[in-house]
Amino acid sequence: MKGVRLPRSSLIGVSLAVLLVRTSRRLDFARRGRRFCSTGRCLGNRSEPLLLVAGGGAAGIYASLRAKELAPHLNVLVIEKGKPLSKVRISGGGRCNVTNGNFLEKMVQICFWHSLKIYEIIFSLGLAGNYPRGNKELQGAYFNIHGPQDTMSWFSNHGVDLKIEEDGRVFPVSNNSSSIVDCLLGEAKKMGDSTQYFVVVQLQIGKVISNVSISYKGKFNLRIEKRTIDLVEDIEADFLLVATGSCQQGYKLAVQLGHSIVQPMPSIFTFKIEDNKLQSLSGITLPKVKAKLKLENICKNQPEYTQVGPMLITHWGLSGPVILRLSAWGARDLFLNEYKGFVYIDFIPEINVEDLKLILSQHREHMAKQKLSNSFPSKFGLVKRFWGYLLDREGLDGDEPWASLANKSLNSIALLLKQCSFKVIGKGQFKEEFVTSGGVPLSEITLSNMESRIWKNLFFAGEVLNVDGITGGFNFQNAWTGGYIAGTSIGELASTYLL
Ligand SMILES: Cc1cc2nc3c(=O)[nH]c(=O)nc-3n(C[C@H](O)[C@H](O)[C@H](O)COP(=O)(O)OP(=O)(O)OC[C@H]3O[C@@H](n4cnc5c(N)ncnc54)[C@H](O)[C@@H]3O)c2cc1C
Repeated sequence: MKGVRLPRSSLIGVSLAVLLVRTSRRLDFARRGRRFCSTGRCLGNRSEPLLLVAGGGAAGIYASLRAKELAPHLNVLVIEKGKPLSKVRISGGGRCNVTNGNFLEKMVQICFWHSLKIYEIIFSLGLAGNYPRGNKELQGAYFNIHGPQDTMSWFSNHGVDLKIEEDGRVFPVSNNSSSIVDCLLGEAKKMGDSTQYFVVVQLQIGKVISNVSISYKGKFNLRIEKRTIDLVEDIEADFLLVATGSCQQGYKLAVQLGHSIVQPMPSIFTFKIEDNKLQSLSGITLPKVKAKLKLENICKNQPEYTQVGPMLITHWGLSGPVILRLSAWGARDLFLNEYKGFVYIDFIPEINVEDLKLILSQHREHMAKQKLSNSFPSKFGLVKRFWGYLLDREGLDGDEPWASLANKSLNSIALLLKQCSFKVIGKGQFKEEFVTSGGVPLSEITLSNMESRIWKNLFFAGEVLNVDGITGGFNFQNAWTGGYIAGTSIGELASTYLL
């Protein structure tokens, strides 16, 4: 019997249809068991938990690497609204002050158990003392779990050579923050694998997490937006780490999840001083002064802050480590007082006022014929320009001889050296480091695992919390420590997680 001959074009059509059905079946099969976001993008295997990290800064990336290290099957998705690690890149004047090296003894203390335990408490007290917000809460195990020594080891084990400078600040030997950025992003890339269908560590940039809610299954429903192209995606995550730094959007997420926010206020800045003559001293560094900050009319019990260290005179006022530390400790009171107050500087903290008077009167005897402006006791360690400024403040004519200096004026100079007041009229800028005080209160977090006390599987780390350190690498150390602890907890939970 002769078979029915179909036209050639129909045959091709049928084969194509069969192929399409088969392919779509195969695709269907492949899609089964995968996790997708609302736009159809694959987020990994459905049988594997998903950690969503809000914020690709120091804390977020460090936490992702740690979680992935402990739970290789965990899908990690980092959503970053700008460029990842952008603050690390600009930090420390482009050098990145990674941590502080004054607290490394932990490693070399090879003692028997009891002394080691006591030592750890002392270590943790000392390090936590550098955090105006957090100094009480961080005294516990926090830095013992992952402290500056651990941070340094982590970076050197991952190929970044670090150095400790005289004042304790730790920088990459390259003096370039790119060494830190490249190391962290390189590690994330290594753990991620774009050649596989499964997503492992994925970093998506230019996207904002705009909303979050908790599903009836206790999972996190996140709305992610890419505003430049009007893209909106919904993702369900098993774990959520909020590491959004000081961004408003991060605080909004925390509030949506039931957390409160301590009002954010800037910390670490210089002081604008009302004194035209001070400008002429711009650039002078005083290696060791004692500075006391008093606020104008804040309340009856006006708080006072005192710090000792190097001070720099700038064309707008006062700066240098001692001022930056004062600004950090007084940040919240200064904000409430509209940055108005007084700084009292003791220029020669090692010598008391009576001894200063004696030194000055001996100088007057020995240098009787010298002009006041040309000579001053070398013990004071001052520069001539500065001495001229002091004479000017006392209304003394520098061309007069020392012999003409009345006792009253001599005493006034001694007092001025010990307690020279400067009127603070505002907040200046400090380009090397800025930080925000305020954020999610530490009382709402369990510090031993960085988990929220409100929701299971919700974690916080870094500057989004109400923690801030003084200048010197302490702020990054908080990000590394918090990130490491959160990453460890998530990694451990994910290892035993049943979906
Ligand atoms: C100029 C400058 C210099 C500094 N230098 C130093 C230094 O040398 N040493 C030091 O210890 N500290 C320094 N600091 C402070 C330090 O940078 C911060 O304390 C640290 O970066 C905090 O890390 P983090 O991961 O918590 O936050 P961040 O580094 O701020 O990272 C948070 C990330 O989250 C992203 N994000 C926020 N909200 C969302 C959202 N809804 N969706 C998606 N992404 C979001 C942000 O874009 C950001 O990239 C400096 C800060 C500045 C500004």
